[in-house]
Amino acid sequence: MNPKLIPRDIFVEKSVIDQPIIHNIRKNHAECRLHFVDHIIPGESDEDRPAIEVIDFKGKFLKPCPGTRNYICCGYQILHFGEQCSIGCTYCILQAYFSSTRLRLFANWDRMLNETKSVLKNNPQRFFRIGTGEFTDSLLLDPITEFSTLIVPFFALFPNCVLELKTKTDHIELLKDLDHRQRTIVAWSLNSNRVIFREEGLAVPLSRRLECAKRCMEWGYRLAFHFDPMIYYEGWEVDYREVIDLVFSNTDPDKIVWISLGCFRFMPALKNIIEEKYPGSDIIYGEFIQGLDGKMRYFKDIRIEMYSKMVEWIREHDPDVCVYLCMESPEIWKAAFGFVPAEKGGLPKMLDMAAQTKCGD
Ligand code: SF4
Repeated sequence: MNPKLIPRDIFVEKSVIDQPIIHNIRKNHAECRLHFVDHIIPGESDEDRPAIEVIDFKGKFLKPCPGTRNYICCGYQILHFGEQCSIGCTYCILQAYFSSTRLRLFANWDRMLNETKSVLKNNPQRFFRIGTGEFTDSLLLDPITEFSTLIVPFFALFPNCVLELKTKTDHIELLKDLDHRQRTIVAWSLNSNRVIFREEGLAVPLSRRLECAKRCMEWGYRLAFHFDPMIYYEGWEVDYREVIDLVFSNTDPDKIVWISLGCFRFMPALKNIIEEKYPGSDIIYGEFIQGLDGKMRYFKDIRIEMYSKMVEWIREHDPDVCVYLCMESPEIWKAAFGFVPAEKGGLPKMLDMAAQTKCGD
């Protein structure tokens, strides 16, 4: 575990002192400096000094992924367990979402599980794909919080859901002996070595991500991979094709539940942040056009070319694995895949079927 990822200063609301997360942090992060405070108001801290805040979360834990208007959304649910990330990818959208760079963890796990349990139990006919990696990296702080040891066995109990843990770390050790019943998908965001090296801060190298995926597969977990954001540059084809080849030489396609593709896109507000914070990064200087959702995207031709080639390379290895586009229009789907999700019942249905076919005992 890279110590730079895990700040030493931890601010804890007094009301959560007795929660298991604090016990785990004390046990696993001996060098930490705990500061007990009355109340931390989310969104009000603009501190830039690295720190973790542990709070009593008052909001809703399980909520639909916000998606993007006018594009095809996958109908994912987010288990909101924490916010922010210390990996430091240049392109990270969270830089524009949160005013504070501090990591924030929600300590009231009891309420989180009760709320989730009642949603799953009250909707037995509905299938839920639930992820924790939207507002932070799912496994970033796992070695100190041990959060995975709580949620992996929890989600194993429900036949109408799968849990996806999405990461760019190698923090998988605690997953080894958990009772997951093939209901947890461990997913890595992947990119070319060049993009990882230049743009993905403290994330572990590609070879290490794939080594970890292989180990999780050997422990019976299902896998997923997300090529998002794909960055266009001269020579991208050779580099991304190499990554696809490595994925399939390291894993069994039967254990891959889905692979997503998404070209680099960003809200205009992120441009200034990237320019200021990462002056060496040139990812924002490509050919972009403003999409229907206000985000800057590569020109259509570039997106179609990248998606079509990626799909072709993936299909050479496995014609059946579920591949989908994250937040793209039906037109781009048609050009890249030859069909639109609506012809197959919609994207949520396609992904539900992939999960139901490959997950569970
Ligand atoms: S790993 Fe994900 S959440 Fe963390 S900085 Fe990179 S893009 Fe952001």
